[in-house]
Amino acid sequence: MKKLFALAAIAAAAVGAHAQDFPAGKTVTLVVPFAAGGPTDRVARDLAEAMQKTLGTTIVVDNTAGAGSSIGTAKVARANPDGYTLLLNHIGMSTMPALYRKLPFNVETDFEYLGMVNEVPMTMIGKPGLPANNYKELTTWIAANKGKINLGNAGLGAASHLCGLLFQSALKVEMTPVPYKGTAPAIADLLGGQIDLLCDQTTNTTSQIEAKKVKAYAVTTSKRLTTPALKDLPTLDESGLKGFEVAIWHGVYAPKGTPAPVLKKLNEAIKAAMKDPGFIQREEALGAVITTDKRTEPAEHKKFVSAEIAKWGPIIKAAGVYAD
Ligand code: ASP
Repeated sequence: MKKLFALAAIAAAAVGAHAQDFPAGKTVTLVVPFAAGGPTDRVARDLAEAMQKTLGTTIVVDNTAGAGSSIGTAKVARANPDGYTLLLNHIGMSTMPALYRKLPFNVETDFEYLGMVNEVPMTMIGKPGLPANNYKELTTWIAANKGKINLGNAGLGAASHLCGLLFQSALKVEMTPVPYKGTAPAIADLLGGQIDLLCDQTTNTTSQIEAKKVKAYAVTTSKRLTTPALKDLPTLDESGLKGFEVAIWHGVYAPKGTPAPVLKKLNEAIKAAMKDPGFIQREEALGAVITTDKRTEPAEHKKFVSAEIAKWGPIIKAAGVYAD
């Protein structure tokens, strides 16, 4: 028995020693649960670039997309808790528990929270050639085309899905949801005219709006944005959908059980990224707001996500949407 304890102590000491060395020149994988080239991917690639300066190692982005981010999120929940596999996900962390009857992970107990990184407004955009040039004309077009409108999303649990749900419920219309593995493929289909409307993050839509490749109708935040390409867009709230407000936030997670010294180093790298001028400049140009408040602290990040779960759960239940 004594020998067993001794072995266990040696093993624990070895893990501790490895944790102190982290990342020891080894590559860290940041899982993005949506398709490459989309808004979450974009934040992840910018963040990885900033974080690797502090960590002194390479961070690669792994797009494990599908099922509104639940596939990639499950992959990280199951990964070795050694700090070498991390997750970047958005508000979906707080909407999935209500949207899925069965999830292969528990958002609140299967992850270590590493800090929030940003908040990103969304925009309601339409396919090129859609015969509505502003929000008022859009509502007229929607009313005239009931039952025929296709609304893209990145799967149940995606931000685009949540925004679309709230939009339909506010307008009291039903549109046909068209799910993709991310909004990068959704916006490609919107540009091709295969879908009519999409509610997506400014990190994905700003350049398309600026180039006038899509029709832009409104922003989902309670205040207008200051980003030059977006500053003339009305809010949905001022356009008649009183109280409409969705802003997407992103946070970073590690599998439960990742050693504390590793979590500390990762959190420090996130906090350093929040002060990295290159990261700040890239994010702000796309309408994102970097997190500089206490939610970069793991405990506050977790508190915030729990509050978001409590906020969105009843709204989603009332909308009667779920997946098995
Ligand atoms: N963030 C997007 C959404 O939830 C998905 C993506 O990043 O592609 O709609």
